[in-house]
Amino acid sequence: MGNTKYRFNPKTLTYEKVEKSFSKVLLRISLYSLIILIVALGLSALFLSKFDTPAMKALRTENSELLTQYQSLNEKLAQIENVLDQIQVRDDNIYRVVFNNDPIPESVRKAGFGGVDNYSKFESFDNNDIVLNTSKKIDIISKQAYIQAKSYEDLLQQAITKEKELSSVPAIMPLSNKDLTYTSSGWGMRMHPVYKVPRFHYGMDFVAPKGAPIYATGDGKVSSIQSLRTGHGKHVVIDHGFGYETLYAHMSAFNVKVGDKVKRGQVIGFVGSTGTSTASHLHYEVLKNGVNVNPMHYYFMDLTPDEYEKMVAISSNIKRSFD
Ligand SMILES: [Zn+2]
Repeated sequence: MGNTKYRFNPKTLTYEKVEKSFSKVLLRISLYSLIILIVALGLSALFLSKFDTPAMKALRTENSELLTQYQSLNEKLAQIENVLDQIQVRDDNIYRVVFNNDPIPESVRKAGFGGVDNYSKFESFDNNDIVLNTSKKIDIISKQAYIQAKSYEDLLQQAITKEKELSSVPAIMPLSNKDLTYTSSGWGMRMHPVYKVPRFHYGMDFVAPKGAPIYATGDGKVSSIQSLRTGHGKHVVIDHGFGYETLYAHMSAFNVKVGDKVKRGQVIGFVGSTGTSTASHLHYEVLKNGVNVNPMHYYFMDLTPDEYEKMVAISSNIKRSFD
């Protein structure tokens, strides 16, 4: 009853109860509420246009931090791209060339990094450019890295095969000839020391004291050992595979037997003067696919270019071989 209002009526000189309809009250409340709401909204809009709420402020900060992070991510990606480019150049121009492989074309290295559709999900983003470009860059780099890894894998396989070949090819001198003092007659036309007629000398002679150790010049298998009274005398033939054979003649003694596997640098026998020979020396031959070749070209692990020149000079100036 506290809400009941009375009004004084001068005509009747009495207080009369003021009747209030429920609908009128409701209307008034609604009106007030509406006014309050409009004012509140107006104030809020004004406030928001001038000031951020703490949540908005936090989001804005986070957004700008993300942008900065994306930018620094892009800089790092550019660095990685640069390194990868250098690796690819080296791969194409050095490693692949060494193993007789064609360079990988640019179109293969940088192609096929996914369709446009892969990136459509980023298009509704506010900063879609940077997000899109970063994603594309990562995809390209991943693809390039994969192709690069594949190339190295191929080369590694070839290197393993090549390594076996490299350790088999005759590549050192057959005796310890550091100062080249043992070097004597080389490859070519010579007067035969015994028959006194011009004859082609198919090997290289090293004049060394009897008993000096003779080394296998590459990995291989001893394919023949013979002791002849004339010709090569006591001699060893090593089959190195890959078409290479070497022959070591006029030995005083053997240090291997037929069928032995030998390693480059292993002692296979000792210098002598057996067979048709005029002095204690080693006659050394290299054969490629059954044909004699100049042994001079097969000391590449032993000789510097200067020493090579010196050896060529010594062996071509000595016009006499010891056979
Ligand atoms: Zn000779």
